[in-house]
Amino acid sequence: MFSYSLRKRILITGGAGFLGSHLCERLLNDGHDVICLDNFFTGTRDNILHLLDNPHFEVLRHDVSQPLYTEVDEIYNLACPASPPHYQHDPVHTTKTSVLGAINMLGLAKRTGAKVFQASTSEVYGDPAIHPQPESYWGNVNPIGPRSCYDEGKRCAETLFFDYRRQHQLRIKVARIFNTYGPRMHPNDGRVVSNFIVQALRGDPITVYGDGLQTRSFCYVDDLIEVFVRLMDSPDDLTGPVNTGNPGEFTMLELAQKVIELTGSKSKLVHKPLPHDDPKQRQPDITLARERLGWEPKIKLEEGLRPTIAYFDQLLRSGQ
Ligand code: NAD
Ligand code: UDP
Ligand code: UDP
Repeated sequence: MFSYSLRKRILITGGAGFLGSHLCERLLNDGHDVICLDNFFTGTRDNILHLLDNPHFEVLRHDVSQPLYTEVDEIYNLACPASPPHYQHDPVHTTKTSVLGAINMLGLAKRTGAKVFQASTSEVYGDPAIHPQPESYWGNVNPIGPRSCYDEGKRCAETLFFDYRRQHQLRIKVARIFNTYGPRMHPNDGRVVSNFIVQALRGDPITVYGDGLQTRSFCYVDDLIEVFVRLMDSPDDLTGPVNTGNPGEFTMLELAQKVIELTGSKSKLVHKPLPHDDPKQRQPDITLARERLGWEPKIKLEEGLRPTIAYFDQLLRSGQ
């Protein structure tokens, strides 16, 4: 008798980043072998230090824009800098990461027969003319602006995923991720939740861009990781794209207020210019995830901000 193991070999690109490190942890806890691939551009070993002793965990310093030959059962392709200052630092490399990275991971999936998951983004909707955004909305994206390396790179990656499915019958899973926050976000990546919390903890002015009336919907990381795993485990006909995020919508002023309340900070708000092409509003329509995956976020903003604040508080105290 053969005994078949339920343990899978799972490759996570961008595994040392914010979302990737939580996913590594979750899949190890579920009993799998995890290969964490990262070039450590925005990710850090600190995010995965606690996993390094696990014999089922392996780290590979590699750039996803280069080919990779290995044997795997599943691939989560998360490698890509995610915040505007980071992805605009070397915009050409950002496009290469998304496009060549997708080609390489799809090539790897084709050769090994692995299922492959793409971390796409709500940025594919650009500055949306439809609100909230369903997956059927094609978006309103500037192809030549400073955000385009990220937005168009991710759009092209989606195209490649669907072409590999049509042409080579690959099993693909595409998640369009909306703003997510939680412990292990990069403290200097310029994203609003980390900026506001770090500023509040330091007693520095809280930088609200524009009038602060633009909206975003914030999902706590644990909710997001749950839907990643459910999507990967879903039947093959569910390719996505699937919106993944929390539909609760807040203005940046409301977020600033909540952060001040929860940190007990004396910081004051200062207004700064709105960045180029900054979307005015964003909220996921998660009907598809609700109906096909039985998923919806459970963690309210206030509830998720507490552990996030505690994380940054500890980070600042340790002098990092
Ligand atoms: P992150 O910057 O913390 O993680 C990205 C990881 O990818 C980092 O560890 C980085 O070092 C690595 N990386 C970057 N370029 C690479 C390359 N060429 N080769 C190998 N590794 C590379 O960001 P995150 O928030 O964890 O985002 C993970 C994924 O989710 C990204 O693809 C991002 O576009 C997507 N996403 C995130 C959010 C969010 O709110 N966090 C929203 C939408 C989409
Ligand atoms: N590739 C890879 N690992 C593999 C197989 C392929 O990194 O195990 C890369 C390789 O760089 C290749 C790309 O994926 O160029 C696309 O592979 P595919 O088989 O689709 O195309 P081709 O090999 O014909 O270019
Ligand atoms: N933002 C802000 N202050 C900051 C950082 C960001 O007001 O210090 C605003 C930003 O202009 C945007 C929103 O917060 O309207 C979310 O920005 P983030 O970069 O976190 O995500 P994205 O724009 O990619 O949704």
